[in-house]
Amino acid sequence: MFSKILIANRGEIAVRIIKTCRRLRIKTVVVYSEADADSLAVEMADESVFLGPPPANQSYLLADKIIQACRDTGAEAIHPGFGFLSEKAEFAQQCVDAGIVFIGPNAHAIAAMGDKIESKKFAQKAGVSCVPGHIGEIDDTAHAIRISEEIGYPVMIKASAGGGGKGIRVAWTRADVEEGFPAVKAEAKGAFGDDRIFIEKFITSPRHIEIQVLGDRHGHVVHLFERECSIQRRNQKVIEEAPSPLLDPETRAAMGAQAVALAKAVDYDSAGTVEFVAGQDKSFYFLEMNTRLQVEHPVTELITGLDLVEQMIRSAAGLPMDFTQEDLKINGWAIESRLYAEDPYRSFLPSIGRLVRYQPPAEGAHGLYQVRNDSGVREGDEISMFYDPMIAKLCTHGATRVDAVNGMARALEDLEIEGLGHNAPFLSAVMDQPRFRSGVLSTNYIKDEFPDGFGGLKAAADQLDLMTAAACWMHRLQITRARGDGRLFAASERDAFVVFIGEHKRAVKLSGEGRALNVELPGEGRSLGLQDVDWRPGRKLFKGVLDGRAFSLEVAAAPEGFLARHRAARARVLVLTPQSADLHERLPKKVAVDTSKLIVSPMPGLVVSLNVEVGREVKAGEAVAVIEAMKMQNLIKAECDGVVKAVGVKAGDSVAADEVLIEFA
Ligand code: ADP
Ligand code: ADP
Ligand code: MG
Repeated sequence: MFSKILIANRGEIAVRIIKTCRRLRIKTVVVYSEADADSLAVEMADESVFLGPPPANQSYLLADKIIQACRDTGAEAIHPGFGFLSEKAEFAQQCVDAGIVFIGPNAHAIAAMGDKIESKKFAQKAGVSCVPGHIGEIDDTAHAIRISEEIGYPVMIKASAGGGGKGIRVAWTRADVEEGFPAVKAEAKGAFGDDRIFIEKFITSPRHIEIQVLGDRHGHVVHLFERECSIQRRNQKVIEEAPSPLLDPETRAAMGAQAVALAKAVDYDSAGTVEFVAGQDKSFYFLEMNTRLQVEHPVTELITGLDLVEQMIRSAAGLPMDFTQEDLKINGWAIESRLYAEDPYRSFLPSIGRLVRYQPPAEGAHGLYQVRNDSGVREGDEISMFYDPMIAKLCTHGATRVDAVNGMARALEDLEIEGLGHNAPFLSAVMDQPRFRSGVLSTNYIKDEFPDGFGGLKAAADQLDLMTAAACWMHRLQITRARGDGRLFAASERDAFVVFIGEHKRAVKLSGEGRALNVELPGEGRSLGLQDVDWRPGRKLFKGVLDGRAFSLEVAAAPEGFLARHRAARARVLVLTPQSADLHERLPKKVAVDTSKLIVSPMPGLVVSLNVEVGREVKAGEAVAVIEAMKMQNLIKAECDGVVKAVGVKAGDSVAADEVLIEFA
């Protein structure tokens, strides 16, 4: 076994590999770029070696420098993680030539499978069912059209060297090929330095199901069942699970056998993934093989109990696998959500910045589900523009799919993030959708279910209750604090209020003391019992138990009352005395002004900073100001591109709701 391993990667996967090495008592060396000097991976590793500036081609892709770092630190082996050098056959060979063990498959297997055209040739020979298409290079647009017409539209134009969802385009017509073929060729040249293109049939509305394989250096290959990764945005995975709700034992065995046959055909000797597209009728076709650890490997680990990083290390060290296919069983169900720094409400624009607050749910058992959170960042860290904007991979495991899904919905609720936008509301929406719960998935899922983008879901009755109770709690706290006598108001003449929530209005009567609040709903003949509240003014996450149900709610200051978000539902909530409620309803409704050229303060507050000056070009999604309200800092972002014509305020100014901050030309 190795005594020291170098990790040629960063972020979450570097941390993941370090964890296994620590357990196996193997020392670790991590390499890092300027952007990662203070990263969690660097902090956790026993040693670290600086590579260079942030861009990957000046840091994480510098093979020579990384091999030299091994020599300098005495590391005997390199784990490449995923991305970067992980699928470069020349790098695997370079390691071997330098007397360093590459923790991954042999260079020959990477070369054979790393290329989509070559891998399909191997797959055909190994008896694997392939997507109908032209397995070979295509010379020019005329040739591409001829092939597309032979296959029959729709077709998919793909870069042979492609990966990560890049270098792929669907063509429905001849015109699409005329436009798409040169486009993909150019994109492939730019992104992969290799412009070989092939074309295959586009399977409409398929499911993405992949088989995890594992080989050792003694000719053993097994499969660790499947993962379903059909929830994708722009051909990139967002939510993955294992096993797949589609497969029955026979189909699983057939796919597993094909994946093992393909792996054996290239003497595969590490962890790898054979990807398939599958029809709803359980027909399946080989897509590609990824010759590396996969981003979504945790779900496989959760259902098999194996540590894939450990297995890769063992196999690289020449140890034989100490189990057989028959020993492997599927235990329960696991789901992974990729948590990204992107704003789902603004067409998923990147929303990078500092994680002012980052409190993921605790790892381990939570009743019917278990949480695992693979992350490479800590509170206070920055999600930078240089790499994947991934914050974490949040996983849940339960005995059944329902337990795992319910667990994920709760785990997403419990996640506390401030400082940047993130896609948890979107992930929550999927968890709460009947279609996702029914397991009828497809790679078109997001397009089908969110045709106009994501705008949140309508609050359900139980969510309105949670928000009402929390609003009343916050209001009571505000009143007691304002009174200043330190007494919590108990039964008093002040206990009747009106709650405006979304377009609803409900009368409430409040009672109770301390950490409990009873919200009577006289109009509905029932009451809500709120307990165990964990919230302080200024905190974004409001936790409590409502009638036995534990929940977390995100709260933010608004011009009137506040904004609450529970899972994917948002609502504006306002608690008023009956007299104020009367006035409120008689006030003329505000007419929306044309704000297309204005950035206004969405709430009353204090301008903490202004990040632009007159003449500056601003891009949509860019943070232009910070406004503090209710002790919370709110990033104000541009909704569209523009050039700043005037700036209405300066740092330190108090602003009213809708006060103009910036005007575009
Ligand atoms: P997975 O199938 O493991 O989910 P992804 O397609 O999401 O894989 O890619 C995993 C990581 O590797 C991502 O960071 C992605 O950007 C990167 N990646 C995958 N293939 C390539 C490639 N050919 N070139 C550069 N990066 C790649
Ligand atoms: P990458 O290397 O970028 O991961 P893949 O070949 O694995 O490329 O394709 C990425 C995704 O595109 C798949 O997960 C699937 O959703 C979709 N896809 C790829 N090929 C096809 C096809 N022939 N028909 C339908 N969808 C496809
Ligand atoms: Mg793929």
